[in-house]
Amino acid sequence: MALPKEKVSKARGRSRRANWKLNAPTLVECKQCHQLKLAHRVCKHCGYYDGKQIIDMEKEKKEA
Ligand SMILES: [Zn+2]
Repeated sequence: MALPKEKVSKARGRSRRANWKLNAPTLVECKQCHQLKLAHRVCKHCGYYDGKQIIDMEKEKKEA
């Protein structure tokens, strides 16, 4: 396994990590129910994706 040649100083490690940022998830409006949903995913409010019903939400509620 590769080993680091030298210890990374606190400042160096910290300054590298200073650029780690969180980014907000991409939210788009659902065409079916007009609520915000995650892009490229089935809507969790109505179970639709690409204009088609993928998940039967009535059944999902009963099972949950
Ligand atoms: Zn929806």
